[in-house]
Amino acid sequence: MLHIAVFGNSKWSLLMKDILENEYSELFTQNGGEEIQVDAFVVLGAPQNDGEISLHAFTQQYASGQLISIVIPKEYYIRHNNIVLALLRNGVNVNDIYSGIRLSERVRTNPELVASLITPILSDPYLSYLEFHVADHCNLNCKYCTHYSPLVPEPVFADYERFSSDLHQLKRYIPDIGIIRILGGEPLLNPELGRFISLTRELYPASIITVVTNGLLIQQMNAELIELMKEKMAFIHISFYPPLQEKIQEIKRFLYEKEIPYTITELTTEFSKMQTFKPHTDENFFYSCFQASCTCLQDGKLAPCYAPYTSKYFNDAFSQNLPIDEGIDLYDDTLTLTSLKTGLLLPMQRCYYCVSGQSRPWEVVGKSSVLEDWVIT
Ligand code: SF4
Ligand code: SF4
Repeated sequence: MLHIAVFGNSKWSLLMKDILENEYSELFTQNGGEEIQVDAFVVLGAPQNDGEISLHAFTQQYASGQLISIVIPKEYYIRHNNIVLALLRNGVNVNDIYSGIRLSERVRTNPELVASLITPILSDPYLSYLEFHVADHCNLNCKYCTHYSPLVPEPVFADYERFSSDLHQLKRYIPDIGIIRILGGEPLLNPELGRFISLTRELYPASIITVVTNGLLIQQMNAELIELMKEKMAFIHISFYPPLQEKIQEIKRFLYEKEIPYTITELTTEFSKMQTFKPHTDENFFYSCFQASCTCLQDGKLAPCYAPYTSKYFNDAFSQNLPIDEGIDLYDDTLTLTSLKTGLLLPMQRCYYCVSGQSRPWEVVGKSSVLEDWVIT
């Protein structure tokens, strides 16, 4: 008997356990494998229900051999990478972490789908999350913006042809992505936003696509863009900052009337400063960094976050030398699916310049931004 765990306690986790123990186990034993039993649901907070265990308890039972692997249902899109990084940080072998296919009841009646129910994450041609910039500059200029948008000296839009080539290239290795976030800077500043959305939908028909905006330009979206977003099923996600407070009800009404689904964060009143000059040596920082799961596509490369691509603005503004342009070269002839997926699970040189953030009240940075506005000294 193979004793394993499933991540989470949602209906997807329950369905995964059920199919694993029944249809999948039956197929597996017919092919000479052992029966499978799901002994635990691993949760991030404190366990509340029978059968749930904490991530810490899982790693203890994994170390003692009581549990031999964990399956993460595909439906944990945005948390998927963070869960993987937390498991790695706690000593779980990457080859013992599996991801599932998209689940539904019809899976259990389709032998082909049952056979492909779980895949080791390094062999799974799937990313749970991808983001890309369509504008590096912004119309809000928050102090401590982790994308350095206030330091972009003049408007910088993503090149559509370059993006198209890169996304096609990515698709050769990764035909499926859980959630794709189009952001910046402020994405609604880009007059070609519709083209980026259309291409993304064409290449990734099953993905959740969201445009992440500070909301200030939502009511200026033209009819063509609104129709296109509806047709392509692209949603809005609003990062809610103080300047939007007075308009937020109007904006919600606007989106409701235009029938564009949206989500919105809580009001952000504090930002974190998390950059240092003196590189540390703690590679575990990467494995606990919440932004290390923000897989970013830029200029033919893929990186665990956007920092290698936006740090050039910081370097230029303050004559500094933070590592830039790191990432996995999608056009490298030696690239394989496994090396691509492995590369996203390793710290970059840029990571050694990030530290735990110091919280500061949210504010707009002035034209005369100084180094101390960005760096913990
Ligand atoms: S709204 Fe977002 S992208 Fe724009 S400056 Fe603020 S944090 Fe940066
Ligand atoms: S550079 Fe590394 S540590 Fe810094 S935010 Fe990105 S992933 Fe996290």
